[in-house]
Amino acid sequence: MTFLLRCGYTPSFDCTCISDGGLLHIVHLHPRKSRWRVQKGHLDQMSMVLTAFECLEPDIIISSIPDNQVFPASRRAIENSQVFRDMFSCCDSRTTCVNEIIRLDERASNLTVLLNVLHNPPGLPVQVHSHAIHYRDNNSAQSNHLFQPQYIPGTVIPLPVIPLLLTLADKYCIESITETLSIHLSAHAPTDSLRVYGYAVAFNLGTVASMASQYLDPMASYGASQVAVIPTVAAYHRVLVLQNIRVQALRRILSGEEIFPHGYGLCTSHQRQTTSLWEARRTYLLGRIQSNTDVAGEMDIVRPLFTDCKTCHKACSAAVDMLGYKCRRVIRRVDQLREMTDGDLLVDGIYDL
Ligand SMILES: [Zn+2]
Repeated sequence: MTFLLRCGYTPSFDCTCISDGGLLHIVHLHPRKSRWRVQKGHLDQMSMVLTAFECLEPDIIISSIPDNQVFPASRRAIENSQVFRDMFSCCDSRTTCVNEIIRLDERASNLTVLLNVLHNPPGLPVQVHSHAIHYRDNNSAQSNHLFQPQYIPGTVIPLPVIPLLLTLADKYCIESITETLSIHLSAHAPTDSLRVYGYAVAFNLGTVASMASQYLDPMASYGASQVAVIPTVAAYHRVLVLQNIRVQALRRILSGEEIFPHGYGLCTSHQRQTTSLWEARRTYLLGRIQSNTDVAGEMDIVRPLFTDCKTCHKACSAAVDMLGYKCRRVIRRVDQLREMTDGDLLVDGIYDL
């Protein structure tokens, strides 16, 4: 007896289920190629929970066809997958047989992970309490970023494991954990932005991709093998456009920022000397601005030179603060590009927060 299952989540996803006496076979599950090639060795980095699987009260057997390995499992747990639910609703006009075996064309290593996920769905990473977060000065590089929750490291799923989990969640339609996995993925953005951006694009997690884009270093600073993690030219191009706009906008803001704007806060004693120091630093910096340059922080370097004069010191502080304010308004994420192409904001790259 052969059934054709249609998965409600992935319309092109057909698989064949063959019932043969007490055996259920699923053949050609998910015939299209996996969108993501999971690198060998990733499994080594997973915790014990994901390298071994044991079910205490099994009532069904899952078998890996290529590796000829069986896994006693709980039918109720595997029904967390829409694919299995569809299969049971399709094949089960009879009662479940204790010897029932589901044969899957899936490697045993992947089944181990899949069954762990179905039996013990991953929880959310635990956030660091806000009072424990160390906020950096407004003029630091952190000012280039929007606020992101921080998580206790041990509660975040290791980054190399996440693509495999997302692949399995997609392949077996475990919708309930995709959202959880996207939060684990985003937790890695500040420290591993390029890979998070690439993975997020690959799995159509647009919000995570946008969030990660603000942490990216200039694209030219990455090696070709690193950049290869971005799966599409379009996604790569969006980052290039974003970073180019940022450089132009930051240059324009810096070149227009005077230490005594319109004579405001002017120190009559040191006007020439102070202005000269400010402009020398500004000229130096203008030729070196990159998409991730902390312009205000870089200009703040001259402030200690004015410690002997309150007026000049105050003027420098005000100018640096103003720079910080203006630079924080420059777009920083790829999702802000669309809004720009629709309106005047494209002209100066300023995004009104
Ligand atoms: Zn002065």
